[in-house]
Amino acid sequence: MRNHPLIQQSELYQKLQRANYQLENMVMIDDLTQIANRRCFDHRLNSVWQYLLREKGFISLLLCDIDYFKQYNDTYGHAAGDDCLRLIAQAFKQSVKRSRDLVARYGGEEFVVILPNTASDGAFYVAQNIHQALEQLNIPHAASAVKHHVTLSIGIATVIPTPNMVPLDLIQAADQALYQAKANGRDRSYINRLS
Ligand code: GH3
Ligand code: MG
Ligand code: MG
Repeated sequence: MRNHPLIQQSELYQKLQRANYQLENMVMIDDLTQIANRRCFDHRLNSVWQYLLREKGFISLLLCDIDYFKQYNDTYGHAAGDDCLRLIAQAFKQSVKRSRDLVARYGGEEFVVILPNTASDGAFYVAQNIHQALEQLNIPHAASAVKHHVTLSIGIATVIPTPNMVPLDLIQAADQALYQAKANGRDRSYINRLS
């Protein structure tokens, strides 16, 4: 019976479906940390943006960059740096709780969080949870100029999308806020409100 052409065809189809599913996952997931990657972030930001443009709802973005991470690699080695990124990715997953939020690795030692339907108060609260999670992780960083453990700086941008804006405006606003958080002494957040 298993040799029947129709059954063989359906088994083949299921195998193909599984393979396709795995491939789709691979292009959306970061190899090192196993969380969403930049590509996944771009897709999600665009769709959430369109949705909130119609709903006239808030969207907040957190752009997070590990402090003195080059020194971390120089002190403990690149493999330890990779372990550190994996631990921090998991800490992010635990600090960002709503099912429609997204945590992604933006690149290098940068992570990004999308918070739909969240204004600046909520975004600041999530950012504080992330700082606390890092405090609790307590990964030693003897070469850091801020603390004796690994910290990060967070740029927050919040907006209600309008037709004359694009998602890149929100990313740029978060990037400017991140720059300000670094300039203000690192291990902290800075908010850029666009509306
Ligand atoms: P700042 O506090 O201003 O953010 O300083 P920084 O040292 O964190 O920033 P910089 O941009 O100078 O260095 C980023 C470092 O992140 C450099 C690079 O070695 C490290 N890095 C980026 N991607 C990876 C990775 O995948 N694995 C490891 N181990 N290190 C990485
Ligand atoms: Mg960086
Ligand atoms: Mg850095």
